[in-house]
Amino acid sequence: MDELYKLTIHQAAQLLRQRSLSSVELTKACLQRIEQIESKIRACVTVCPDIALEQAKEADRLLQSGETIDPLAGIPVLIKDNICTKGIKTTCSSKMLQNLIPPYDATVIKRLKARNAVILGKTNMDEFAMGSSTENSAFSPTRNPWDLDRVPGGSSGGSAAAIAADEAIYALGSDTGGSIRQPAGFCNVVGLKPTYGRVSRFGLVAFASSLDQIGPITKDVTDCTLVLNAISGHDPMDSTTAPYPVPDYTKALVPDLKDLRLGVPREYFVEGMQPEVRATLETAIRKLEELGAKVDTDVSLPHTGYALAVYYIVAPSEASANLARYDGVKYGYSYQETDNMWEAMEKTKQNGFGAEVKRRIMLGTYALSAGYYDAYYLKAQKVRTLIKNEFDEIFRTYDALVTPTSPTVPFKLGERIDDPLQMYLSDVCTLPVNIAGLPAISIPVGFANGLPVGMQIIGKPFDEETILRVAFAYEQATDWHKRKPKI
Ligand code: GLN
Repeated sequence: MDELYKLTIHQAAQLLRQRSLSSVELTKACLQRIEQIESKIRACVTVCPDIALEQAKEADRLLQSGETIDPLAGIPVLIKDNICTKGIKTTCSSKMLQNLIPPYDATVIKRLKARNAVILGKTNMDEFAMGSSTENSAFSPTRNPWDLDRVPGGSSGGSAAAIAADEAIYALGSDTGGSIRQPAGFCNVVGLKPTYGRVSRFGLVAFASSLDQIGPITKDVTDCTLVLNAISGHDPMDSTTAPYPVPDYTKALVPDLKDLRLGVPREYFVEGMQPEVRATLETAIRKLEELGAKVDTDVSLPHTGYALAVYYIVAPSEASANLARYDGVKYGYSYQETDNMWEAMEKTKQNGFGAEVKRRIMLGTYALSAGYYDAYYLKAQKVRTLIKNEFDEIFRTYDALVTPTSPTVPFKLGERIDDPLQMYLSDVCTLPVNIAGLPAISIPVGFANGLPVGMQIIGKPFDEETILRVAFAYEQATDWHKRKPKI
């Protein structure tokens, strides 16, 4: 069988169970694929063939003896490089951590390992997850497999590009303001940001702790449910995880939308949205209607326009606190050419962090400083509550909301990197979801000028099932997710 790397989790799991495929074969196929195309895509920061093949052998042993029938057993995965992996470098694509080998696994990694997942390596990202294009990586930008001159989105651009290019069967990303959904949309793959508190953040290098969540990036919606089943749930190591039981998300995969009430908030069709993206979304929304959903296109969330401002106060404020730990003393890069402690700390940060990270730290410390705290941080938190309340209110009428994932198709490398405001605008449609702590998924819904377009489906807190149902029904009725880039 050639092109094994193209398989989805559920396809590969079936072949593994039938023993017509081994995990070692599948793992080798992915490793070869990585070797073949990485010079073009640059989705990976670290690849660890030895560890992967060792894990694959063990998975094969368990699968063959019948000791496991887990759908993730023996399936190769790539992990965003801000998720700690014991014994495997975790760099956050930053010079600050470029030699950091964590002594422990993040909870999500423990959970994947408990199911005998095969870890191929770590994916490139915007430094400390700050960015929307993966150009802020200290190592190299990642390229969009659909057009190598364009960005894959960010900050989980490495994970999304890797899955679009079939370098692994699935990947994990993290999403603080859109970093799973926006790159998923840009690369024609499925990406889900879970409800805040659904998935443990233990071992996720913190960017903005009240917004960050880890989630799956997959080739289809079925795979998304399988990964979500594995990583969700309460964790004693993360007190912000919710004690709610984890449903079997595969049960949400029913192919019709009868009686489902969907709202389309008009504020998400922003000024500056590309007309082809709008047209693609409109066609997708009509498809949801055909599938039985009651779609209301006259919905309003009037505070949406404030989300960007709220996010760029709250996220940098939290980041400035979280990143204070990189002082060159405990771990990470350390400037050594001085006996003066203050100079050492200053130079450590100056040399260790890239421009965007420094910008965020400065914005955050400013917003939190005496005299400005009330005017910026406190005000932002109040507006955050208004945004959250507005969603609560609208969800009394609708089961889920449907919006574009991004107002544009992937832009060219270099096009926005010198214009932070333009870059920040890439996330207008995804940020409000993190501010309100809601779950949302991006799925492929077509192409505009030959480039992928994503649709975002937003759900009630802890109602991942409904957005998965909408996503699955749409996916069953279309085949956009099956289109592959020519590399
Ligand atoms: N692009 C947004 C930012 O730069 C969101 C990043 C993310 O979700 N990690 O902060």
